[in-house]
Amino acid sequence: MSKLFHVKRNTIVILSAVIFTCLFWNFLGRQKEDVQKRGVFKPSSQTLQPAVDSEGIPQPSIELKSGVFSSEKPLFDQLVDAGMTPRMVQKVVESLKGDVDFRRVKAGVSWDLRFLDDLPCQFTLHLSPIDVFDVHDLGAKPVAIRRQIDVFTEVEYYRGEIQTSLYEAFSHVPKGIGLAVKVAEVFAWDIDFYQDPRKGDHFEFLVETAYVERGGKKEFLNYKRILCGKYFGQRDVFDAYLFEDEKGKDAYYNSKGQSLIRDVLRSPLKFVRVTSSFRGRRFHPILKKRRPHNGVDYGAPKNTPVMAVADGVVKSAGWLGRGAGKGVTIKHKGQMLTQYFHLNKVRKGIKSGKRVRQGQVIGYVGKTGLATGYHLHFGMKIKGKYVNPQKQKFQPGLPISKKRKPAFLSKVREYEQKVASFAGPISLAEIKAAP
Ligand SMILES: [Zn+2]
Repeated sequence: MSKLFHVKRNTIVILSAVIFTCLFWNFLGRQKEDVQKRGVFKPSSQTLQPAVDSEGIPQPSIELKSGVFSSEKPLFDQLVDAGMTPRMVQKVVESLKGDVDFRRVKAGVSWDLRFLDDLPCQFTLHLSPIDVFDVHDLGAKPVAIRRQIDVFTEVEYYRGEIQTSLYEAFSHVPKGIGLAVKVAEVFAWDIDFYQDPRKGDHFEFLVETAYVERGGKKEFLNYKRILCGKYFGQRDVFDAYLFEDEKGKDAYYNSKGQSLIRDVLRSPLKFVRVTSSFRGRRFHPILKKRRPHNGVDYGAPKNTPVMAVADGVVKSAGWLGRGAGKGVTIKHKGQMLTQYFHLNKVRKGIKSGKRVRQGQVIGYVGKTGLATGYHLHFGMKIKGKYVNPQKQKFQPGLPISKKRKPAFLSKVREYEQKVASFAGPISLAEIKAAP
């Protein structure tokens, strides 16, 4: 175990956290309910319509029972208990055959069963927020119909402050890890989210968030594109704006109109679950004193994917000696060489002479060779000399063409106005002062 894992995990505060709509808070409340519902496999039951209308005329009574998939009780038993006949259940399963693989349905997936005058009439399976199937005509010949679900997106604004790591900063946001990964990917050429973040760094961004409507309420589906973002680090302030590139594809540019894509990525580690704090980044101080340390150590969980930081050709891969353990070295243009040591394993197919692309996974973090804990040793040589990869200034990205610049700048203004509408004009001090 490396020192990193002994560092106490600090509590993270998302400064002024997140701005949501009231409805979104409703959704959070609902989600909690859902969580509580799981594990309870007794169907809940409610009557949807009074048996008698306001004038006293008897109405058909509609009853609703619902439940969730659970390992404790098979669906078959649940539905029979709810009031379906075994034959009916069989027919329902058959009607859904083309759409649903019941062996793969996860625990927690919910179902509804509607009764008309005490007879089951409609079964609904909520496989996911966008995969909902209604099975009608349960009494005779059940027919399954996929429900048309409308997905709508909203633009949301987030801002936060780093206490230990970007990962931690998102730990209280629903599906926050996926969102943190999106942010890390936008800034992957500028910020090494394993090494660079410092306590007090802060950030803000706009993201498109997809929702579906369910039972008259908004339900979170997923995060789509980051529209713009800013990261206020100690080293620098970075910004990113989404704009189409020449080929009409989504790309990110800084406020000067330079593409964020560069030849070299800031970090060789794919941003995944990072719980270790940056303060533990000096991984091996003793070893460091004993011999020159030609590189940067990244304490990271076993099997964290390791990426080539730039396009290149593999020079060596596999067992690289007692010190390095398993590793990969890659030759790049500009007489640059990168080294990735102590891997648990080299990715299949990565061998000497193989061409690799920037961002391609080449291996997985381990502790082979002279390493006491899981970490990646990342080394960089330029023209045969070791350099500190963190201090390297790489070529800026390509600028947006003169012709497209006005359209880009107007898009930037549009984003900024949107941010201001959520946040009001933000000064750094203001962000720091927020509770
Ligand atoms: Zn090292």
